[in-house]
Amino acid sequence: MISFQTKAQFNKDAAVILLTKSQIEKKKFNFSNAKIQNAVLDLAKNKTFCGDKDSIFPLTNEKKLVLLVGVDESKDANLTSLRITIKKALSSSYLKNAKTIELIPQVNDEPSIQALIEGIMIGAYKWKKYIKADEKEIKLKQIIIATPNKPAYQKTIEICDGVNFTRDLVNDNADVITSEYFEKTIKSLIKGKKNIALKILNTKELSAQGCGLHLAVNKGSDKEPKLIIVKYAGGKKSEPYTALVGKGLTFDSGGLNLKPTGHMETMRCDMSGAAAVVGTLKNVLKLNIKKNLVFVCGMAENAIGSCSYKPGDVFVGYAGKSVEIGNTDAEGRLVLADTIAYTVKNYKPATLIDIATLTGAVAVGLGFDFSGLLSNDQKLADALLKSSQETDDRIWQLPLYVEIRDAIKSNYADLRNSSNIKGGGAITGAEFLRNFIGDTKSWAHLDIAGSAFVEGTSRMYYGYGGTGAGVRLLTHYLINN
Ligand SMILES: [Zn+2]
Repeated sequence: MISFQTKAQFNKDAAVILLTKSQIEKKKFNFSNAKIQNAVLDLAKNKTFCGDKDSIFPLTNEKKLVLLVGVDESKDANLTSLRITIKKALSSSYLKNAKTIELIPQVNDEPSIQALIEGIMIGAYKWKKYIKADEKEIKLKQIIIATPNKPAYQKTIEICDGVNFTRDLVNDNADVITSEYFEKTIKSLIKGKKNIALKILNTKELSAQGCGLHLAVNKGSDKEPKLIIVKYAGGKKSEPYTALVGKGLTFDSGGLNLKPTGHMETMRCDMSGAAAVVGTLKNVLKLNIKKNLVFVCGMAENAIGSCSYKPGDVFVGYAGKSVEIGNTDAEGRLVLADTIAYTVKNYKPATLIDIATLTGAVAVGLGFDFSGLLSNDQKLADALLKSSQETDDRIWQLPLYVEIRDAIKSNYADLRNSSNIKGGGAITGAEFLRNFIGDTKSWAHLDIAGSAFVEGTSRMYYGYGGTGAGVRLLTHYLINN
């Protein structure tokens, strides 16, 4: 979909030229094609095109379309505005019939070109499986970026591919993307790869291991609960393991504490954490990242039936701790409690990062553009925050503190899965998980309940549906730490 050439040739169906206001004002552009150079100079002189943010001006050159696009350079401008601009420009109706497009940026530094690639690939993504055939026909465009140097852009393309792969998993029907489907997907990703071991625990094995919390959540479902673990020895033998643990609720009805209308329609996205882990696994294998890693997906479905687990009941999990069910809709932390405890005991990772659509509260606090980050290790938190800044896969740190522990105390069990206090749900959710990390000194929890899915209209350069939150962040973190 994206390729490169060292300079503009103006020989494709269309050319898209990115220009800022000051480039237009100071006439700081130099196109190899004299006709286009003169045409843009004229437009600049007549002030017909001034390079205003996101403005689009079509000009034709021997039947080929040249689209001038204004790029923001105000003090608020950043690489995200560039991502948004290119998404808007490429979806312009002028380019409807253009199959091959030359993209001609005037700024060619590495972060800008990477941002353009992200704006193109993440921006162009659409979930089309169930829409009308004629709309589906809109073919993927070939974009050729004219830029003198091309350092590591193939890597950016692969990473965006991993993001969109994750979005496909999130967007399809809950009855398609089941735990079985995850198992198949993971098997096909790791097929023929070296230094990899797969372990799967189904109902029988989960029961034998005492994963009573994971099993409780799945009681109302006819789908198989699964704990899927991929151990990847990509690094040196002496190097410690990092575990990535994802919440994989393939559908969350809320259980007997049923979610109301308006809160359930997007709940096929409740496996976005596990999907991000799988997308990151894809990236790690594709980019041959040399690290020792454990990828873990805790898969279940929170459905309703005569066997559903009930509020007020107490279950004991893998770590031997009992939990009173305060609310059957706080099920993700139950699955994760067993998933994390099992990972810690059997794989002893030095670092464990879990990623989960855990709490609606995180979106109340942070909105939808940031995932919540909570950690017991500031060094790990800082590394993740740095990756967040460099990838635009946004996270914001929330506090973990000793006094909050009282909020999940129970009169009947070691812990309660819902909080006794109002507010701070993202923090009490993380505090619950902290009880299952054992001696892990470096743990981070990413709450992507707000950021993983766009409902209705599009947000920034994401369309509607799954965003692939966490994939760019985790891949960048693994490459750089
Ligand atoms: Zn829930």
